[in-house]
Amino acid sequence: MVSVSRDTAGDASLDVVVVGAGFAGLYLLHRLRSLGFSVRVYEAASGVGGTWYWNRYPGARCDVESVDYSYSFSPELEQEWTWTERYAAQPEILAYLEHVADRFDLRRDIQFDTRITSCHFDETTDRWTLLTDGGERVVAPYCVMATGCLSTTKLPRVPGVESFAGPTFHTGQWPHEPVDFSGQRVGVIGTGSSAIQSIPHLARQAAQLVIFQRTPNFSVPAWNHPLDPDYVAEVKAAYPERRELCRQSQAGFPIEGTPGSASTATEEERAAQFGAKWQEGGLRFLGAFGDLLIDPAANEAASEFLRTKIRERVEDPAIAALLSPTDYPCGTKRLCVDTGYYETFNRDNVTLVDLRRSPIEAITPTGVVTTEATYEFDALVFATGFDAMTGTLANIDIRGTDDLPLIEKWHDGPRSYLGLAASGFPNLFFITGPGSPSVLSNMVVSIEQHVDWIADCLDHLRRTGLGRIEATPEAEEQWVDLVAQLAGLSLFEKANSWYIGANVEGKPRVFMPYLGGVNTYRAQCDEIAANGYQGFSLREGAHRVEARVR
Ligand SMILES: Cc1cc2nc3c(=O)[nH]c(=O)nc-3n(C[C@H](O)[C@H](O)[C@H](O)COP(=O)(O)OP(=O)(O)OC[C@H]3O[C@@H](n4cnc5c(N)ncnc54)[C@H](O)[C@@H]3O)c2cc1C
Repeated sequence: MVSVSRDTAGDASLDVVVVGAGFAGLYLLHRLRSLGFSVRVYEAASGVGGTWYWNRYPGARCDVESVDYSYSFSPELEQEWTWTERYAAQPEILAYLEHVADRFDLRRDIQFDTRITSCHFDETTDRWTLLTDGGERVVAPYCVMATGCLSTTKLPRVPGVESFAGPTFHTGQWPHEPVDFSGQRVGVIGTGSSAIQSIPHLARQAAQLVIFQRTPNFSVPAWNHPLDPDYVAEVKAAYPERRELCRQSQAGFPIEGTPGSASTATEEERAAQFGAKWQEGGLRFLGAFGDLLIDPAANEAASEFLRTKIRERVEDPAIAALLSPTDYPCGTKRLCVDTGYYETFNRDNVTLVDLRRSPIEAITPTGVVTTEATYEFDALVFATGFDAMTGTLANIDIRGTDDLPLIEKWHDGPRSYLGLAASGFPNLFFITGPGSPSVLSNMVVSIEQHVDWIADCLDHLRRTGLGRIEATPEAEEQWVDLVAQLAGLSLFEKANSWYIGANVEGKPRVFMPYLGGVNTYRAQCDEIAANGYQGFSLREGAHRVEARVR
């Protein structure tokens, strides 16, 4: 048991403060506690789970296969937990994370219902001071932001957005009790991943469902199904090799070998490969060829294949055309994975409104007014996504040396070293921060890698008697340039995606994730650590973290 002592100011004195209790915060707490650090996690929600605590909308499920979208750190956990579906639904993923919290006795070091509002570095003590929304003050030499890439919801910027008199729901902040839309006229604003998952469910309940679409998205069927116990047994028996494949892959999936090139394949070979990947379902489609996100012609072939599938699934050709993206390459906005999304538009109670043709002018107490029509609703669903990757960090008043606010440093786009740290912000780490593979990967793989790297780093500092670590401005500069260069070699900058901040007005247009691949990235991080944390300046801090006996 970790003892929490009091510092001279009377604050809880810890080695590490962690913000967030999702996949990242939970594993970090376990890992650091096992190393004998005293750790406390602060979480705004009333329970664990992060994304899977908040996103309870009907149809919410993972789009990385469950057996891979799970922790690898504990072989016992791997063996005792059994996923029931190819893509687990939100209640099952939340139950898994609750099980993890109980199994590893994590809750005793998590303070729920507590939002961190500010986080300031004190150069005289080399410590971070954090304030909570309840007025509590927490001091620790190290602070880790496990605050999530998709945890700050966003409403559309439309006049009167708060004025609707009926119930409103954001998919990312869904109520805990089931919502019954039976017999109601429901409007859905947005057609990204969450909309694509929820719309088929909402359409089956509501009397009328009107979907407001600004930008259509590409989606591939999930072909979700219950998992065959023999398959689960096979996966469990081979988990060590499977996890290693994930770690050594481009995006954190258990894929062997390198895909060929669409540009050198014949038309028949391309059609056969796209068809095969379509039949496999889900995100694997983008792995059909290695150049789909690099070569415009290769991508256009894939995009056209997906558009053909939309035309096959939607009966009305005009609706099919509206649902077919034509102005960005597939995969450069997050590819969606659906169950019956396009077929939903064949229902009599479903209407698609094209906001490019008739934008929303206002939301009123009774509905939505576009430039062409007025729609009356009993309930409104905002599936308008998140201020991704930086939004949650920007909501915390984070200040480093010289009282520099992080939002000021990141005014023209996020600047980090490895997506893990930033110069001017000593002893502060980000999990899956901008500049790391994060949202372009199976995030559990990336989260575990970051947690392990940070834990090893803190252990190294303790063993060597060094208390302060900070990314150098030069290393950060080079890393930011590399992230930008890789983005420039890809097609990603051709889309107005949340990867590039385009969904938030005023956000700088900078591609945020690192595109070099999970495998290459891991090797770089490991090499940097092996070389004495190259690119970081390490020195004795004004504090000393002692090993504790648990
Ligand atoms: C609907 C949906 C489906 C997804 N499906 C997949 C998938 O299939 N595969 C995949 O790889 N990824 C998926 N993701 C991405 C998902 O976010 C990650 O996989 C993963 O759950 C992130 O874990 P995390 O712990 O880093 O962050 P989160 O789960 O977002 O947890 C962060 C926590 O920090 C808390 N927090 C934030 N700010 C503060 C503060 N100031 N004070 C206190 N607490 C704070 C939040 O309340 C939250 O609980 C999905 C995301 C969404 C929204």
